[in-house]
Amino acid sequence: MKVFYNKDADRARLDGKTVAVIGYGSQGHAHANNLSDGKIKVVVGARRGGESWKKAKAAGLSVAAPAAAAKRADIIMMLLPDEAQAEVYARDIAPAAKKGAALGFAHGFNIHFSQIQPRADMDVILAAPKGPGHLVRSTFVAGGGVPCLIAAHQDTSGAAREIALAYAAAIGGGRAGIIETTFREEAETDLFGEQAVLCGGLTALAEAGFETLVEAGYAPEMAYFECLHELKLIVDLLYEGGIANMRYSVSNTAEYGDISRGRRIIGEGARAEMKKILAEIQSGEFAREFILECRANSPTVQAMRKQAAEKPVEKVGARLRGMMPWIGKNRLVDRGKN
Ligand code: NDP
Ligand code: MG
Repeated sequence: MKVFYNKDADRARLDGKTVAVIGYGSQGHAHANNLSDGKIKVVVGARRGGESWKKAKAAGLSVAAPAAAAKRADIIMMLLPDEAQAEVYARDIAPAAKKGAALGFAHGFNIHFSQIQPRADMDVILAAPKGPGHLVRSTFVAGGGVPCLIAAHQDTSGAAREIALAYAAAIGGGRAGIIETTFREEAETDLFGEQAVLCGGLTALAEAGFETLVEAGYAPEMAYFECLHELKLIVDLLYEGGIANMRYSVSNTAEYGDISRGRRIIGEGARAEMKKILAEIQSGEFAREFILECRANSPTVQAMRKQAAEKPVEKVGARLRGMMPWIGKNRLVDRGKN
């Protein structure tokens, strides 16, 4: 598989162009500031009077209502929550966008699951960083980048792919690696990753480990350090050098425990469930469930957030992190700013 870097991207595709970044949340603030640092003309599309409007202004960016931002732009990047995109596209973007403008996404969800039917004259592109928005920004500022996926769903101009590549490079992906894919492949693998491994699998694993130790009578503080805090230290080793690097650093005892026991935790049952989760994504069942949940004002998500906040692992964690002030310094997530 070919991996693209800065040298493969044609920066001239963005010269003299205006990019409207619609939304100034996790991804939006990162794209807008990275592009702007690269001397690309950016206008942020935000709700007048909303939190994002203030944050983007405070960052020194030009801000306009979504329709006004779209009207000025050659590339319109949709960085609202997935569930809000279809309505904003139909109401604000489609009527305002210039003929032949490019419409960009950071996730294939709305195109692949047919929530947005883009105007036929537009290029429709994907530039999807493989990492949380706050890291797309912090890694870029530190001189690195987050790997990116690109795709073209509609190529009216004949240059959609080149525009996607230049855009992905400009937000930092060209330093780390850019891979070409399709909207379908990105949407399905991204949903699978976050459900089975990165978010769903990982939080369930940490919680189950924590609760097993606490139920067996061990102190919750011990259980927290062991099953949650230390995760980052292990993940840093994986990130730096893969599985072998982590196994080299941990003790031989830990390595033997890993190779002899890990597959009992993620065994046949877990693998069968992963396949079911993938099938629900591929069939559109997950997308339908999520869209209906959002239309009903997210009752399940709201209830689960309240329940989760009450969990001992979160309460103990908050107290212990309070004793480690360096964790709170230079935060990746500062809700007043990003
Ligand atoms: P966020 O939830 O962080 O987006 C919040 C932004 O959207 C704010 O600017 C908010 O404005 C605005 N907004 C929310 N609802 C509306 C609405 N109804 N009308 C107008 N503006 C609204 O989004 P993410 O950054 O998480 O996701 C953006 C896209 O990037 C999605 O497609 C997602 O799948 C994709 N993606 C996200 C990743 C991540 O790290 N989060 C990783 C890779 C891809 P206000 O302040 O006014 O409320
Ligand atoms: Mg994801």
